[in-house]
Amino acid sequence: MKTSIIGFPRIGAKRELKFATESYFKNQSSQTELLAKVQELKSQNWKIESESQLNFIPSNDFSLYDNVLDVAFLLNIIPKRYRNLGLDNLDTYFAAAKGYQGKAGDVKALPMKKWFNTNYHYLVPEIEDDAHFELVGTKIFDDFSSAKNLGYSTKPVLIGPFTFLKLATYKNKKASDFATEISNCYIQILEKLNLLGADWFELDEPALVKDLSQADIALFNEIYKPILSSKGTVKVLLQTYFGDVRDIYEDLINLSFDGIGIDFIEGKASFDLIKQHGFPSDKTLFAGLVNGKNIWRNNYQKTLDSLDLLSQSAKNIVLSTSCSLQHVPVTVTSETNLEHHVKASFSFATEKLDELEELAELFEQNDQRENSTILKANQELHQSFKRAENPEIKERLASLTSADHVRTPIRSERLKIQKKRLKLPLLPTTTIGSFPQTPEVRVNRKNYRTGEISKAEYEAQLKSFFKEVISLQEDLGLDVLVHGEFERNDMVEYFGENLSGYVFTKFAWVQSYGTRCVKPPIIFGDIQRERPITVETSAYAQSLTSKPMKAMLTGPITILNWSFPREDINHESQATQIALAIRDEVLDLEAAGLPIIQIDEAALREKLPLRQSDWYSEYLDWAIPTFRLTHSGVKPETQIHTHMCYSEFEDIIQAIDNLDADVISFEASRSSLDILRGLKANHFETEVGPGVYDIHSPRVPSIEEIEQVLHKILQIIPQEQVWVNPDCGLKTRRNEETIRSLKNLVLATKQVRTTL
Ligand code: GLN
Ligand code: ZN
Repeated sequence: MKTSIIGFPRIGAKRELKFATESYFKNQSSQTELLAKVQELKSQNWKIESESQLNFIPSNDFSLYDNVLDVAFLLNIIPKRYRNLGLDNLDTYFAAAKGYQGKAGDVKALPMKKWFNTNYHYLVPEIEDDAHFELVGTKIFDDFSSAKNLGYSTKPVLIGPFTFLKLATYKNKKASDFATEISNCYIQILEKLNLLGADWFELDEPALVKDLSQADIALFNEIYKPILSSKGTVKVLLQTYFGDVRDIYEDLINLSFDGIGIDFIEGKASFDLIKQHGFPSDKTLFAGLVNGKNIWRNNYQKTLDSLDLLSQSAKNIVLSTSCSLQHVPVTVTSETNLEHHVKASFSFATEKLDELEELAELFEQNDQRENSTILKANQELHQSFKRAENPEIKERLASLTSADHVRTPIRSERLKIQKKRLKLPLLPTTTIGSFPQTPEVRVNRKNYRTGEISKAEYEAQLKSFFKEVISLQEDLGLDVLVHGEFERNDMVEYFGENLSGYVFTKFAWVQSYGTRCVKPPIIFGDIQRERPITVETSAYAQSLTSKPMKAMLTGPITILNWSFPREDINHESQATQIALAIRDEVLDLEAAGLPIIQIDEAALREKLPLRQSDWYSEYLDWAIPTFRLTHSGVKPETQIHTHMCYSEFEDIIQAIDNLDADVISFEASRSSLDILRGLKANHFETEVGPGVYDIHSPRVPSIEEIEQVLHKILQIIPQEQVWVNPDCGLKTRRNEETIRSLKNLVLATKQVRTTL
């Protein structure tokens, strides 16, 4: 049995890609140096893959920033505003990725969106009306050749034309207008790969796991029929992931693909599809049975049983992962501080390669499997697995009633009481919580962590940061202040570290977007708050100012979604355990005198099931009440805020209103202000702070620009309901641009207030 993966993490075991790219951005290294580092990382990955005996080694899974953007640049879908900067190819690419402000001009980045149900973000391709798909790039060929020169025969992978068109945005045209053009480009790519001597070509089409209309299916056929009829000797693998392909399975098996990649981990209907409709004997099934998203050791017996089952329907099977391994960290071996039994239960990207190899070998052994020491060791690992369980928490969970999820009085009553208490001007200005994590801020945390400075020294330093940022906000004239989050490395890890039941890693980074990586903590046992977490800090911050201070917490759904969850209990139970911990924290903050508490749910939208029919039954029906559990105990005069990132929540507006927060801030600047019309149409009651500028780019918005945005907002949303804020936390920015941006935000607001 052969083995395959869809992609490998590109950031490097120690985030080498991040550091190399950022150094280039800061003009501290040249393009040549950056590209040399990139080449080194690619070669390293191929080496690891080849040493693990992986049969289908991918190439072109690597990206300098994002694979979707790579396709756009490969196929000449580069909006004019970037091309017109007149920069070289690489800098044009980075301008589209993260915006550009300099000698050549001033342009915003392309919008970013979550990649399906993951915490990875891709850059949304923008297809202008006069755009033409044309094969102008060479990356996929260069990567293939460079691997070949190193002695690796690889399977080039590329995001497929259907998914690309589905993810793109258009002005007056639509996806189907570009079907022939894009089809022709992929034909040319195949021709070139033929010449270069590729065996297989993998086209990733995750968009197929979503609900598909008849028009979608027709479009898919229209694009793929010409491609498949001119494929030459290269075998074409259609790879899907993140779910099942129930709407198009029959079409897929009737088209002349040589291989079809199916996800049997997240694809609920995948086994049934194969059983019901069979799998053609002239095709290879790339069976995604090793979870590409979780970090737990594979249960070999279970996987072998699945393989046996699939073998009844499919003759040719290649064992694969359920999705690209870019969603898990690089290797467990970097983790030297974990207890042995904990470490033994983990499997990151590199270890998953070993699992594939062992499983393939075990499968071949048929009736000899029972005697295999590898299988026995794996069974023992799973049997001896002990989690820290806590009867107290179980009891608390069991005693919850529906009243625990309802805050009284109703929101309109509360808001009146809060208005009296807070005495804020119209269009109150605020920020989302974090201020720039300057080198000094990071060094302080690091020195404390490594024991270089004492707790007292660390805290004294923190206090001076809080003082500084609070007086900065007072000088800027912001209305609701924050403490800046200088004590936090990450909004989830920070809370995880203060909750029992979590396990932390040192290097288990996963790419979130571009050079930004996150290190999701791991839920290992039952979750409980050991002690108050933020109360002292928030109370101190409030003591420094007469303006209202907004305390900052991360919500249970986001903590869960940005952690690696357990698999032995469901997500709802894990989220409820976390919610109870946050609820205790909320009540302590209120008791300490904090008038406003923000409970961030940055990642709520992210785990919405990909199929609309599952949205409520599988997710929102428990996620919304779980959030409400965190704040239902507060007094009417305490104002509850929440915040969501990349809020494509047009279609779940009612559910968001049902979080029953008093105020919500969300990203709106990069994705235009379309969402506002939806809020109006749905009689959205929560007060709203649609982000008035994009913090994911160092670009400073002008006063006029922000004024314009505010006028647009006020045309749709009643002025009493509007807050003014950036679209997310400022931690990734530098002080320099932050101060200039916030100054403009306050001035623009003051200007607009005079017109009301
Ligand atoms: N309060 C957090 C911050 O400002 C929110 C971050 C986020 O939404 N991702 O950093
Ligand atoms: Zn955010």
